[in-house]
Amino acid sequence: MRPTIGMTAYSDKCSDTISFSLELIDYLWGRRQQTSRDPESGGQLFGIINNYGIIVTTASGPYSNDMRSSTRYQSDPLQAQKEIEQQAKRGQLYLGEWHTHCQNLPNPSHYDITAMKALVASSSLNLRHAILLIVGNNHIPNSFYIESFGKTDSIKWNMIGLSQNETSAKRKNFTAEEIGNA
Ligand SMILES: [Zn+2]
Repeated sequence: MRPTIGMTAYSDKCSDTISFSLELIDYLWGRRQQTSRDPESGGQLFGIINNYGIIVTTASGPYSNDMRSSTRYQSDPLQAQKEIEQQAKRGQLYLGEWHTHCQNLPNPSHYDITAMKALVASSSLNLRHAILLIVGNNHIPNSFYIESFGKTDSIKWNMIGLSQNETSAKRKNFTAEEIGNA
């Protein structure tokens, strides 16, 4: 089944695009951190890479044994690894990590950046860059922060797409996207 694209991220540093399925956006937006008393949520991002670029189709998490507080999220590594293996069987590549912040315009913490750099440095995966997606709580798409991390560099991405108030009729405008063998 072809994923329906809800948002696409661009960067002037890179000719690739990163697109996000509507299903994924709904999943993440439904888990946003609405008050500072709530713990952060998070998990892993999965998808495909084809002629249209990187398409993030699915997210997992949070899991029952994660470390979660109002300002921190760390996935249970065993559950995360299990999910990565299960998604691989369905042809879904592990693409990176997501978590929430109780911020309108989320920004990565020092800890977030250190964690992504450590992940990429230790990763045996064949990805050039791993995506960090932080879900804020004000507006789509501005409340989605996206940065990708390589072994020696990182790229910030600008998201273009739907607002959460758009009707399902309007959403159909984005379904015309032909994304090939997805
Ligand atoms: Zn964070």
